Amino acid sequence: MIRIGRQDRVFILTGAGVSAESRIPTFRGVGGLWRNYRIEEVASPHAWARDPVLVWEFYSMRRRVAAAAKPNPAHFALAELERKLMDRLFLCTQNVDNLHEQAGSRRVHHMHGELFKSRCDTCRRAPFADEATYEPPASIPRCDCGGKIRPHICWFGEVPFELDQVFAAVDGCTVFVAVGTSGVVEPAASLVAQAGGRARTYYVGPELPVNAAAFDQCFQENAGRVLPGLFVSE
Ligand code: NAD
Repeated sequence: MIRIGRQDRVFILTGAGVSAESRIPTFRGVGGLWRNYRIEEVASPHAWARDPVLVWEFYSMRRRVAAAAKPNPAHFALAELERKLMDRLFLCTQNVDNLHEQAGSRRVHHMHGELFKSRCDTCRRAPFADEATYEPPASIPRCDCGGKIRPHICWFGEVPFELDQVFAAVDGCTVFVAVGTSGVVEPAASLVAQAGGRARTYYVGPELPVNAAAFDQCFQENAGRVLPGLFVSE
């Protein structure tokens, strides 16, 4: 149980594990492979430059899987926590699916982008909603400027979104909770160290993350089981 006092500010970091019970596979779960490609080989600027058709095939598959998924009790528990804490909760996700929003969370910071948005790889046109799939024989979508339309995703080697806001929220939190993240992908993996010493730090997930030593307490269980009863707020 995690007690939330009236003065507490809570930072939640979710990873692929929070959506695992919604049947969206984690990267670890699929062995980090897709059609014998390592995930990094289809989710990087290098892959986009080399083979954008392959990249869109990968993200089209991910859009199909995510479009069929529904939020699970873990997503609903975090939406409920937001209703109680309002702006004393900062929900930061590494996930690109929209299950937090589907569960009712209003302010979700997608540090690795959003699967159902696209943007131009050349001009400054703002990212836009896009649920389409682009697979052969369909061709790569093009922007009016002539650039290629790419998924609005932070690929390996790119800088995550809204980092200033994320770091400021970690600095201001008194309770830090990471859920379903293996603690491998930076800079998300280091946020707990930034919060530690000042904030109480917790991890929720069936396996210990590689950065487990940085947490005060780990709840070694599935998120959908633990989160609905985890928070007690005054
Ligand atoms: P990861 O795949 O490296 O690790 C997933 C973690 O979730 C593991 O530690 C595993 O033990 C845990 N887990 C599995 N089932 C769980 C459950 N029921 N409850 C709680 N935890 C559970 O994922 P990551 O650390 O998020 O980092 C990898 C990258 O994968 C991120 O950049 C993210 O953008 C991307 N990703 C996102 C999605 C998504 O949007 N749903 C899916 C796959 C990967």
